[in-house]
Amino acid sequence: MKYAEIITDITNENVDKIFHYAIPDNIKSKICIGMRVFVPFGKGNRIREGYIIGFTHKTDIEEKYIKNIYSLPDEYYVFNSNMIELAKFMADKYYCSLSECLQCIMPKIIKDKTNKYANINYETQNINDKINTILKKNNAQSKVLNLLLKNDNVSIYEIKNILGVSLSPIQTLEKNNIIKITTKQIKRDAINVDKYNKTNHLKLNFEQTNAFNFIKQKIEEKSNKPILLHGVTGSGKTEVYLQLIDEVLKKGKQAIVLVPEISLTPQTVERFIGRFGKKVSVTHSKLSNGERFDQWKKAKNGEIDIMVGARSAIFTPFEKLGIIIIDEEHEATYKSESSPKYDTKEIAEKICNLTGATLVLGSATPSIDTYYKTQINKYDLVYINNRINKSMPEINIVDMRKELDEGNMSIFSKPLFKAIKENLENNMQTILFLNRRGHSTFVSCRKCGYVMECKNCNVSYTYHLKEHKLICHYCNSTENVPNVCPSCNSKYIKYFGVGTQKIEEQIKKYFKNARVMRMDMDTTSKKNSHQNILEDFKNHKADILIGTQMIAKGLDFPKVSLVGVIASDITLNTGDYKSAENTFQILTQVAGRAGRADVKGKVFIQTYNPEHYSIKFAKDNDYKGFYEKEILERKIMLYPPFSNIFFIMICGENENMVINAINFLHKVMMYYNQKTNFYISDVAKAYVYKVNKQYRYKIIIKAEEEIRLKNFVLYCVSVLKNKIDVNKLNIILTLNPNYIQ
Ligand code: ADP
Ligand code: ZN
Ligand code: ZN
Repeated sequence: MKYAEIITDITNENVDKIFHYAIPDNIKSKICIGMRVFVPFGKGNRIREGYIIGFTHKTDIEEKYIKNIYSLPDEYYVFNSNMIELAKFMADKYYCSLSECLQCIMPKIIKDKTNKYANINYETQNINDKINTILKKNNAQSKVLNLLLKNDNVSIYEIKNILGVSLSPIQTLEKNNIIKITTKQIKRDAINVDKYNKTNHLKLNFEQTNAFNFIKQKIEEKSNKPILLHGVTGSGKTEVYLQLIDEVLKKGKQAIVLVPEISLTPQTVERFIGRFGKKVSVTHSKLSNGERFDQWKKAKNGEIDIMVGARSAIFTPFEKLGIIIIDEEHEATYKSESSPKYDTKEIAEKICNLTGATLVLGSATPSIDTYYKTQINKYDLVYINNRINKSMPEINIVDMRKELDEGNMSIFSKPLFKAIKENLENNMQTILFLNRRGHSTFVSCRKCGYVMECKNCNVSYTYHLKEHKLICHYCNSTENVPNVCPSCNSKYIKYFGVGTQKIEEQIKKYFKNARVMRMDMDTTSKKNSHQNILEDFKNHKADILIGTQMIAKGLDFPKVSLVGVIASDITLNTGDYKSAENTFQILTQVAGRAGRADVKGKVFIQTYNPEHYSIKFAKDNDYKGFYEKEILERKIMLYPPFSNIFFIMICGENENMVINAINFLHKVMMYYNQKTNFYISDVAKAYVYKVNKQYRYKIIIKAEEEIRLKNFVLYCVSVLKNKIDVNKLNIILTLNPNYIQ
């Protein structure tokens, strides 16, 4: 083949195309699809990174304009052909450039343990003159300078590779202060396997065995239907995963296990390492680029067989993939919120189609979308209906309106208060859940009603006790607490609304001897703080753990026998079509933390909406009942899975500009919609309509056909961009978003 087809690392949509380069003889024998290359690009021939996605004999470009590939930085390919297929699938499905998708799949390539970067030393006197002398010589030093004049922060490794020079000209330039070299230390701690207790297979109970056999057979049949494992909380799903993986390994195949968030699921990770030791690696967003690259390479070279990680671990480059397991498949974190806005479950399905691996989704509260697919026979379904200990927690609903009628103004209902007290006396542990951090959720004047609002966003400030400050949860700006009302000068500033800090304060007030811990974004900013809190609570160093949704998932603490949900109405009143689903899920999951070992669990759900179906079905632990009711609502309202929703938001500092653009876009859409007949909403302010000084307006479109909908929106947006200058605006397009804001 004469030419290489190359995608550059530039994500700009104008250069989102394939470029043809000639292959010089010296690299012909080494080059293959999926390798990285350095190529001269554009008029100035700046050196850019690119990826080879194919070869061809033909090109439309005149021979004399064809440039040569500069060099190959690696000895191996970065993408295999399946991954290139996957990137093409992503570019198409998530309306973004191929380059963006390739970069999303690939880790940042870091070669050396210590990375050294070179830059021109502009602080040196008469630096330009000095450069010009050297440049005239046209030797190795001048080559290096030419490269650095066009590119910042080039690593020594890259300089040597791109130019084919030795270290000596670089060292000479540094000695003469023409360039300076900075070092970035990269620490690459692999997991310390010895820290974990080795475990062996448990004898599966009847229901686990049934699920295990079902999935095992599907793997053997190479069925390309994904399988949903619907098992109640504490039913031993993880043990089933572990034994399935063992089967897969025995066949010489490999496994990817996805969990929603590594720091919140340390116990799950522990169990994989405990069972499979050095065969496992763990990857997540808190690792440095170097650490991640090391994990990636280990997987590629077959030094490990199991990768456990959050969302991005789906791109682990195993050559012999046998199974993908997505635990807690209903979690929103499986959808990326930045471009490419991929859905991990869709990616996993595509990978399984390409490789023949089997996809297993597990949850106690499957997403409505996934469960629907089992009902229309797109997915297989297998159940575990009972807990390992055969005892589901007893769930009580507390009507907070009655509490108020009876004169109880406190944040704890009488039954919850009594249960906390008893649980403390019995030396058992309690979890109190509230999905709102801070102390008081708004601060206002009792005389005139003025509410302290963020100056950048149209949301009220939250009062934080420790800092004694008002903090905006959208832009993080802070403000001092006023002594008098800024509007009427009255002194009656009052604090309303409950956050996790206030619960902590109240618990300490009423239960003086209780040892209390709090887990939310404010207490977990330091590295390892998640693990430390969970470890301490596990070791019974505290009696009560208060927290946000961080404490709702995956935790398996035998001494927790009481769970209290302080205000279940928060997730219910978000205005989103998924609010009932989210409420049911979070209540079931948090309730599922109680009574997992030998003591019966008790749960109290405090609410002002005791008759809401999401709360009632959660009380009865009736997933199927909830599903039947919810799927009917979705059908009537034409919401997913019966439609696709396109969420369009335009943001900008100049509100008039935003309004102009979105109104124009709306008009264009209404015009073209005469043919397509989609549901198109009016233009409206976003749920929080100003964030970080940016005004935000939205349009929502619903349609059954995904591809037509996508083409329609992209076309209308291109018309907008042609007619109106949108440079100062941010146009955000999301298909089937996690939340409609
Ligand atoms: P899930 O992931 O379904 O919520 P887990 O896998 O955490 O459930 O299992 C709950 C508890 O039961 C864990 O402590 C686990 O070690 C234990 N367990 C699971 N399977 C068995 C079994 N077959 N025999 C004994 N204990 C088991
Ligand atoms: Zn006032
Ligand atoms: Zn703000």
